[in-house]
Amino acid sequence: MAFFQKNNNDSSVNHPMIDLREVNKFYKTAVGDYHALDSVDLQINAGEFVSIIGKSGSGKTTLLNMITGIDIPTSGEVWVNDTAVHKLSENKMARWRGKNLGVVFQFFQLLPMISVIENIMLPMDFCRTYPMRERHQRAMQLLELVELADHAHKLPTALSGGQQQRVAIARALANDPPVIIADEPTGNLDSKTAESVFTLFNDLVAKGKTIIIVTHDSALAKRTHRTALIADGEIVNEYVAKAMPTLTAAQLLQLTRTAKPQHFEPGAMILSEGTHADTFYVVSKGTVEVILPRTNQSDVVALQLGPGKCFGEIEFFHEKKHLASVRASESGPVEVLSIEYGQLKELLDQSEVTREALHQMADKHEDEHMSILGGSK
Ligand code: ADP
Ligand code: MG
Repeated sequence: MAFFQKNNNDSSVNHPMIDLREVNKFYKTAVGDYHALDSVDLQINAGEFVSIIGKSGSGKTTLLNMITGIDIPTSGEVWVNDTAVHKLSENKMARWRGKNLGVVFQFFQLLPMISVIENIMLPMDFCRTYPMRERHQRAMQLLELVELADHAHKLPTALSGGQQQRVAIARALANDPPVIIADEPTGNLDSKTAESVFTLFNDLVAKGKTIIIVTHDSALAKRTHRTALIADGEIVNEYVAKAMPTLTAAQLLQLTRTAKPQHFEPGAMILSEGTHADTFYVVSKGTVEVILPRTNQSDVVALQLGPGKCFGEIEFFHEKKHLASVRASESGPVEVLSIEYGQLKELLDQSEVTREALHQMADKHEDEHMSILGGSK
């Protein structure tokens, strides 16, 4: 699409498009400070499509407000497209936002007194991003993109909810921002209309936009590149969530807090066969290799495990001695999250379905080991 600039991705190789560092937000209330965001770290790269999910009141909108600069953190840093949003003065904020972010709300928030096309031209008028004579034509092109060109001169209220949301998306694209932020954009739409709005976001990601949506719809969330789960103002570790999808948000948060990250150089040994086992691991960066010992033969790499995969679960259910060695693959550095068996047991005592799932995984991995070793244990 000619009227979208290709994002210059040079800088994104080194740093993310959106970077929240140790962000805390306290709201002042009659009964004291309310901790709405607790040490939130979140990095999103250019071109990523990320969903944010979590219960009502968990802090999703507060988090988006930190990124858009609608509100500022109590402490911590917010970087968007190399701008320190937490430091922007109020008079610079609106114009910066207008050029860098397209914001879409659950209830569209179109101006009711002006036509659809005038709504779309407004951000261009405000930021003076395009010469006056080009603004009308660009707005028309954006309306064509969302398949509403025929409705350009109607008032927003003459359109259906889904159509109004597509107008709001066209408006969000008016200044060709690299980032689109949408707070429950399909929350007020029926499922078929929601699908068409989601498809539109998908197309925009394909054109290079970075998109963050808050959604209640876990089926939609699964179709984005990555999901960040927020519980009580804290981000749940995404690899812990991926490894143990049957835990509740509160249990995942508990596990996120107790898991200890450990780092390994490429090729480094993480644990050795035959040693005492007392820890369960979730891979959070890079790839690890599970190496099986074979009598009178060279050892064999049985499994490659990437982010969100776990190891150490067979030994948790059986004898507490490592059946295999595990090392970081040569392809790059590795991070694993370690969880002591005692903590794992405490958690599984609260979630029978997770114990069952983990037990099944342990049996499956053990079968795989056995077949590789030709049935000899
Ligand atoms: P979500 O979008 O996930 O539903 P919010 O970010 O809107 O959650 O709110 C998180 C928590 O902060 C809620 O408990 C909410 O009541 C509280 N909160 C939000 N805004 C304010 C405010 N301006 N003043 C006091 N408390 C607030
Ligand atoms: Mg909200």
